[in-house]
Amino acid sequence: MSMTKSEILARLTSGDVRFLRLQFTDILGFVKNVEVPASQFEKALAGEIMFDGSSIEGFTRIEESDMLLKPDFSTFLVLPTFSEVEGQRGRVARVICDVALPGGEPFEGDPRFVLRRQIERAKQAGFEMFAGPEPEFFLFERDAAGRPTTITNDHAGYFDLAPIDRGERLRREITNVLVGLGFEIEAAHHEVAPGQHEIDFRYTDALRTADNICTFKFVVKRVALEYGLHASFMPKPVGRLAGSGMHVHLSLFKDGRNAFYEEGGEHGLSDVAMRFIGGLLEHAPGLCAITNPLVNSYKRLVPGFEAPTTAAWSTSNRSAMIRVPAKRGVSTRAELRLPDPACNPYLALAAMLAAGLHGIEEQTEPPPPIQRNIYKMTVRERRAHRIRNLPANLGEAVEELEKDEVLRAALGEHVVDHFIAAKRAEWNAYSAEVHPWEVERYLGEV
Ligand code: GLN
Ligand code: MG
Ligand code: MG
Ligand code: MG
Repeated sequence: MSMTKSEILARLTSGDVRFLRLQFTDILGFVKNVEVPASQFEKALAGEIMFDGSSIEGFTRIEESDMLLKPDFSTFLVLPTFSEVEGQRGRVARVICDVALPGGEPFEGDPRFVLRRQIERAKQAGFEMFAGPEPEFFLFERDAAGRPTTITNDHAGYFDLAPIDRGERLRREITNVLVGLGFEIEAAHHEVAPGQHEIDFRYTDALRTADNICTFKFVVKRVALEYGLHASFMPKPVGRLAGSGMHVHLSLFKDGRNAFYEEGGEHGLSDVAMRFIGGLLEHAPGLCAITNPLVNSYKRLVPGFEAPTTAAWSTSNRSAMIRVPAKRGVSTRAELRLPDPACNPYLALAAMLAAGLHGIEEQTEPPPPIQRNIYKMTVRERRAHRIRNLPANLGEAVEELEKDEVLRAALGEHVVDHFIAAKRAEWNAYSAEVHPWEVERYLGEV
């Protein structure tokens, strides 16, 4: 239940809260905040705190650099104190904000606004999208100076009979903190790679899910720090190990019913579900830049690690980009296995929704599902099944996004232009470097 402004103010001034963090996200997905002390609580809740947007990545428009932070009261939380020292300094509360121009109009470079716009578009068609993410991450040791290493905190994985390893204790602690913040945790488990974990939280509407992902990442990193470890959401931190994905389970509801389910429909799915899947597959190449935004993201999208390499769907196998889990009825959903946890969750969910809605509008029929292991299919077999490859790297992904008019329109000119420029620069910087693999492979031999 959302608190009212006066309830929040009462909570803030009841004694122990010293700071209010006004939080928002930049275009590349980094969470930013402006923190105000007690004297400013009222002003902050009234949405009157201004900040200089020109120094925020992607907000750079010098002529409209003054921006307002409009708190979304439903996101108010008093954060836990993570350490004793912190506890003595008084507690910190946070509220997630929408970014507005001085006149009060929403700022089109605000990723949260981009997502709101697609949610509104879905609503016009009678739909509400729900999303449930499965973020994966690694826990790494820190060196003597406290810098993160790529040494995983456990090595023996499930063979280890040691009483309780640090990773397991930490995972439970993270779960406890999240539960304390109102998260409903559905599962927390060790993943395939050593040091790799996954914590799944319950699906909810797209906006809240995006907010939840930001909160989740903050908590995981913060608690890990307390344990002397480093939590990383890097998509592929160690070459020969599985990467970290963030599968997202998607469904549309209409008039209180799951619009993906149809008893007696092919695969038990409705036309809405099929076309939504059709739209996601059609826009997959352009979607990649948003859902898999780093140079490193494409090191995860290789055969053999349960991550997708092609735009295909399936009702069973985990090499496909979209899997439709067996549950039907109210739980009918499509699991998009493409995203990784480095994505901007607002833009990623907006782009997924836009692609799916476009599929519904255009009545895009997906090709037949692929039940076989795609990693093992030959190029010719894939072609015969109309399976397209996903972009091989960030450079290709950016080119695809640039060509995708539907995604461009959904993200809006301001966001797309900035995003593409930033990602192209990132790709060019990477491409101009000589990497250790090349030196090792070629220096002696050539
Ligand atoms: N780590 C895999 C990925 O990169 C997923 C593994 C799993 O959850 N089955 O997507
Ligand atoms: Mg899972
Ligand atoms: Mg997993
Ligand atoms: Mg999954």
